[in-house]
Amino acid sequence: MFIWVSKLGVPMVGFIFVTGGVLSGLGKGVVTASIGKILQFRGYRVTAIKIDPYLNVDAGLLNPYEHGEVFVTEKVWEETYDPFKIRCAEVDMDFGTYERFLDIEIPPWNNITTGQIYLSVITKERRGEFLGKTVQIIPHVTDEIKCRIRRAANKREVDFVLVELGGTVGDIEGMPFLEALRQLRLEEKKTFLIHVTLIPVLKEKGEQKTKPTQHSVKLLQGAGLQPDGIIARCKEELGQEAKRKIALFCNVPETAVFSDHDLETIYELPLILEEQGLGKYICHKLGIQQNLEESKINEWKGYVERFKRPRHHVRIVLVGKYARLSDSYVSINEALKHAAAHLNAAIEISWLESEPLEFGEGFEALNQANGILIPGGYGSRGVEGKILAVEWARKRRKPILGICFGLQMMIIEFARNVCGLKEANSTEVDPETPHPVIDSLKKEKEKWFGGTQRLGSQPIKILKGTLAHEIYRGHLDMEGIVLERHRHRYEVNPEYINLLKESGLVISGFHPEFPLVEVIELPKREHPFFFGVQAHPEFKSRVERPSPPYLAFIKAALKTK
Ligand code: GLN
Repeated sequence: MFIWVSKLGVPMVGFIFVTGGVLSGLGKGVVTASIGKILQFRGYRVTAIKIDPYLNVDAGLLNPYEHGEVFVTEKVWEETYDPFKIRCAEVDMDFGTYERFLDIEIPPWNNITTGQIYLSVITKERRGEFLGKTVQIIPHVTDEIKCRIRRAANKREVDFVLVELGGTVGDIEGMPFLEALRQLRLEEKKTFLIHVTLIPVLKEKGEQKTKPTQHSVKLLQGAGLQPDGIIARCKEELGQEAKRKIALFCNVPETAVFSDHDLETIYELPLILEEQGLGKYICHKLGIQQNLEESKINEWKGYVERFKRPRHHVRIVLVGKYARLSDSYVSINEALKHAAAHLNAAIEISWLESEPLEFGEGFEALNQANGILIPGGYGSRGVEGKILAVEWARKRRKPILGICFGLQMMIIEFARNVCGLKEANSTEVDPETPHPVIDSLKKEKEKWFGGTQRLGSQPIKILKGTLAHEIYRGHLDMEGIVLERHRHRYEVNPEYINLLKESGLVISGFHPEFPLVEVIELPKREHPFFFGVQAHPEFKSRVERPSPPYLAFIKAALKTK
């Protein structure tokens, strides 16, 4: 491992800043992760920061319709502001992209928002920490931003910090962050700024237009930032003429303009950028060693090949509420893809709104699937449809995987149709239900955990001799415990555990200390794969290490063919 050492012998960390222009949704997260991968090909250790310029303190309350899924980190971060205490593990979905590409764990404090910055500055002001000074955007807010960016670098555990600035250059709320980046560019020795923009084409096979890029780079320059390189998001590979124009008008060499065109799989982007010389250029610009490790690139190429040249095919249906917006379930999607690629299968994932099932519509889609997945969710809309999907899969012996809310739906279905508790429900859906098989356990959980929401990594004790034990074999510690990430308020009500077991449900995973159900299943002789987890194993799935429950689910789905 090569580490820069300053004259004082202090390891120096490099900063890679990624900004975006023209419009949002260009895949800056994938670009940021790909740059990280390129640095990893050279043996460098990286971490990532995402700046979200909105005023929310964290992503916990964001609607997935607007922002895509909320990703959950391994660690939970507690910070005290006057007069609040904040427990944070819910972060922007780009963190999922970083973790999946880079196979690292990123702490939640690496998601910086305007809300956090202002809360912190105003808390300090109220405490009198500014000693009577006028508190201003520059320097107080920008200092707070820089301090939080540097906090990720201070750990002496990384060679590079990737910093992705959310939104688009020119957004008013992004201004203080651009100013902080400008100051960091002056103060830090090793910084590199890459700007990601869109290159539209007006008609079929028409000319690639560079004007929007030129304008967005002008905005960046107006903020005192000259990019070192431009990544052009386009449909077809970026042509020479467009490259020449971008270079000329944006004040960068032609070799610093890179094409980010449509690919079969996003995991190919690091290879495409590497081929175009991005890694070499970054190292050259920063004056650091190349150290390219062919074996690392080849390993990644091997994974990408599996995505591109599958031998089998599998069809999975997700039954959910945000069915129209696949960004709401991006980690589940990727976990399914990792598992399928691992088994050399192409995967077709379709989305099914659960509500129409209540009126008898949509069962044909279930019929055509090789496996059914009931994902996490909140609230009461569409719940009856999900329960019907579970019943259908249980009776027809179709592989089914329930994640979090999905497990809760499986419990309700089983309680109603097997245990005979016709009105069983979750108190989240029906607070008056006579059979609250899913309940918040508010009092108990406040005593056990100090709050009702279970967040971040939590232990699960797996019972020997079960399907869960088979699935998690090789992942358990000496005590038979595995860690998965959680994000939920409701639990299987312990008062019903005996009845569920007597009626044939196997509870194969528990919290090691408290009576909290974590994993459920049906015996193999009754059903090929009826499996539910209270956690979200998808958050830990990696290209090179698919999540065990997802892998087992796809295996079972392939067997039905
Ligand atoms: N709404 C359910 C709960 O809070 C499930 C949450 C989820 O699926 N993430 O327990």
